[in-house]
Amino acid sequence: WSKKDFPWTKKLEVNNKKVFGNHSFRPNQREIINATMSRNDVFVLMPTGGGKSLTYQLPALISPGVTIVISPLISLIQDQIMHLLQANISAAYLSANMEWTQQQEILRELCSGRCSYKLLYVTPEKVAKSDALLRQLENLYARELLDRIVIDEAHCVSQWGHDFRPDYQSLGILKQKFPKIPVLALTATATASVKEDVVQALGLVDCVIFRQSFNRPNLRYSVMPKTKKCMEDIDKFIKDNHFDECGIIYCLSRKDCERVAETLQESGHKAAFYHANMDPDKRVTVQKMWSKDETNIICATVAFGMGINKPDVRFVIHHSLPKSIEGYHQECGRAGRDGHRASCVLYYSYSDYIRIKHMLLHDMEQNSNANSGRVLETNTENLLRMVSYCENDVDCRRFLQLIHFGEKFDPVKCKKTCDNCFKDQNLIDKDVTEIAKHLVELVKSVKQRFSASHILEVYRGSLSQIVKKYGHNTLSLHGAGNSVAKGEASRVLHHLVVEEILIEDVKRNEYYGSVSSILKVNEKKAFNLLAGRHTIILRFPCST
Ligand code: ADP
Ligand code: ZN
Repeated sequence: WSKKDFPWTKKLEVNNKKVFGNHSFRPNQREIINATMSRNDVFVLMPTGGGKSLTYQLPALISPGVTIVISPLISLIQDQIMHLLQANISAAYLSANMEWTQQQEILRELCSGRCSYKLLYVTPEKVAKSDALLRQLENLYARELLDRIVIDEAHCVSQWGHDFRPDYQSLGILKQKFPKIPVLALTATATASVKEDVVQALGLVDCVIFRQSFNRPNLRYSVMPKTKKCMEDIDKFIKDNHFDECGIIYCLSRKDCERVAETLQESGHKAAFYHANMDPDKRVTVQKMWSKDETNIICATVAFGMGINKPDVRFVIHHSLPKSIEGYHQECGRAGRDGHRASCVLYYSYSDYIRIKHMLLHDMEQNSNANSGRVLETNTENLLRMVSYCENDVDCRRFLQLIHFGEKFDPVKCKKTCDNCFKDQNLIDKDVTEIAKHLVELVKSVKQRFSASHILEVYRGSLSQIVKKYGHNTLSLHGAGNSVAKGEASRVLHHLVVEEILIEDVKRNEYYGSVSSILKVNEKKAFNLLAGRHTIILRFPCST
């Protein structure tokens, strides 16, 4: 796809320079554009800041009709439209909370003889709920003026991801109604299973896939224990490393945001807080002050950040446990977009796991429906992976993050830019074959129907309600690992998944339409291990 002799190549080059002011293309941009211009369905995995917008805005500009962009957040859409209008590209958006007359006007323009819009942004609920919009799209389609359908933040389709939005599930209707129109699905966060989910739900056909390394070499990662004097630690960290520089502190609750901001102000930082329950005017003010460097530090819930485009964020601190590795990677990704060095520090305590677990349960009770049980399981699983990331004090942080995006990262390339690689600790090789065998046998003895966290619970001898409910406390291997450290057992399990001896199977429940993850045994690969022909050695710090 990198060829430079497509019929549109000349136009691309010219407009990239003249209209968008770019000297060249970033990695994969040209390839993605060529693939979508050739009318293929395309799936793009590109880290935040990689330049996804250009891959549909430039094709929209040089195509005759209209490009429809589905995007989840109004603030993000408004920001994009502002930039497009500044570049003299005609664009508009439709959302449910717009004045009805205004919506009518936009729909009228769409069906006018020669619609002037190059891009029309819509929120997913518009597609799910507005017949008027679908009629206009059919009309455009009939007149051959529907060029392309772009699904931004496509991971929102998948319940398996960390940011599921129900309205995204109805987007499959677009491919059904307009089978000949190329779809371009974009995301900065998707594991292999999320990708499968997205491709399936959107009905993409023979889709061309682009993915690039998610490693961000200029970010430094570390995990610190979160103690009672966490605020003092944060204050000191910022003063020592990033005083008067710009940063984000992610907090779990609204109260935490306010408390953390206040404490930092008292210690002489220019800090403010930002969360969903604030007065909208106040929120806009805070965001503006931050953009203009009048405040340095924003203490925010994860609501802050999607679509934030500040290039010089020098640190991202997690004051509590993130809810998933994907979410964590994306939140950290807001640092150092200018390519200069930035720090990502996570303050971890196991009690935050319990707190979040409680919040998830509470959410489930509030919005209880047929899916909630499964959704809770998925969220818990994601959270537990985050716990195991934090508890791992051996492996390269980059390696641990990237493996979730299906990327095998060589820790040597980290060059000691994460806490674990930096420690340079004495490691010893340990034969964990017995543990590995036990885990594989356990997966078999629970009939390959349970999750990784459940297997670990049984192995370590848990007597939780669920363990008892399924009678797993009576299995011969129940408690076989009660003298093995939890971190160690979970590392071995993780390793088995990485080596494809165990397979994390995404199971779709046809009845509920939801997904969950279950461990299965890859018989072929497991055979040698169980037959004693394969040993597994892992490295651990000397003390364990
Ligand atoms: P993403 O949506 O992948 O997070 P954006 O599309 O918002 O990324 O692009 C991030 C930044 O990179 C924007 O400021 C954009 O103008 C800039 N950018 C994108 N493509 C190029 C390019 N080819 N050359 C220079 N800058 C670019
Ligand atoms: Zn490392």
